[in-house]
Amino acid sequence: MKYIVIHCADTPNDREVTAREVHGWHLSNGWNGIGYHYFIRRSGQLENGRPEYWMGSHVRKKNNGSIGICLAGRDEFTEKQSLTLQGVINQLLDRYPNAEVVGHCDLDSRKTCPNFDVKAWWESVK
Ligand SMILES: [Zn+2]
Repeated sequence: MKYIVIHCADTPNDREVTAREVHGWHLSNGWNGIGYHYFIRRSGQLENGRPEYWMGSHVRKKNNGSIGICLAGRDEFTEKQSLTLQGVINQLLDRYPNAEVVGHCDLDSRKTCPNFDVKAWWESVK
């Protein structure tokens, strides 16, 4: 595993969103359902997306060898989301110690997702 890639759902910050909803949106785009492996609701609740053994669909040209985690919201995230995210990342790093924690925009310069500096955030909390 090379990358743990953090995304945002690009949904309004004041709106709760579930993995099931995202799954429905992605299906209606004609995709194979939710493209992320994990989803973190505004409440901080962790939900499963695709199983890890199934390649994700979340980052152009880098889906192979990456795990995608998506946060509900657009550019402000809750403290509970931050704590859940730290927990998921730490569990993944136990299994994939060489994986790098990055934001979507770090791998695709045309994107701003997830609208914060993931590397700086991770350095500050890990
Ligand atoms: Zn993204």
